[in-house]
Amino acid sequence: MKENILKEKRLRITPFRKEVLQIFIENEHAISTQDIERSLGEHDRITLYRTIKSFINKGVIHEIVMPGDVKKMALCDPVCSHDDGLHEHNHIHFQCKKCEEVYCVEVDKLPNVKLHDFEIDEMEIQARGTCKACLKM
Ligand SMILES: [Zn+2]
Ligand SMILES: [Zn+2]
Ligand SMILES: [Zn+2]
Repeated sequence: MKENILKEKRLRITPFRKEVLQIFIENEHAISTQDIERSLGEHDRITLYRTIKSFINKGVIHEIVMPGDVKKMALCDPVCSHDDGLHEHNHIHFQCKKCEEVYCVEVDKLPNVKLHDFEIDEMEIQARGTCKACLKM
């Protein structure tokens, strides 16, 4: 159950945190801070920013920055390890050029990239195309 994420990630459950989490659960695509603010009723901005920050730190959500786009956020994979502050996902970020929404899309296997003289902590794959909703139209 996605609603149990807060408990699983050892975050104190508050009505506000539950409300913000619910917005992420209801959206299949990534959302921006402005999207969250629009979905919330009256709220305290500072509390919202703190909530977002703790969600990111605890591996509940992650940030996605597509070139030329505003910063968006989406739910993490259940397997996301966040202990060292790094996010680990088995998905790529896909932006639809029609509706411009950004989706986290699961892949069977991510390419294994090895670098000489450099050490990778995090890697993100971004793709562009037409999303499943727009393909059906
Ligand atoms: Zn994550
Ligand atoms: Zn689309
Ligand atoms: Zn993602």
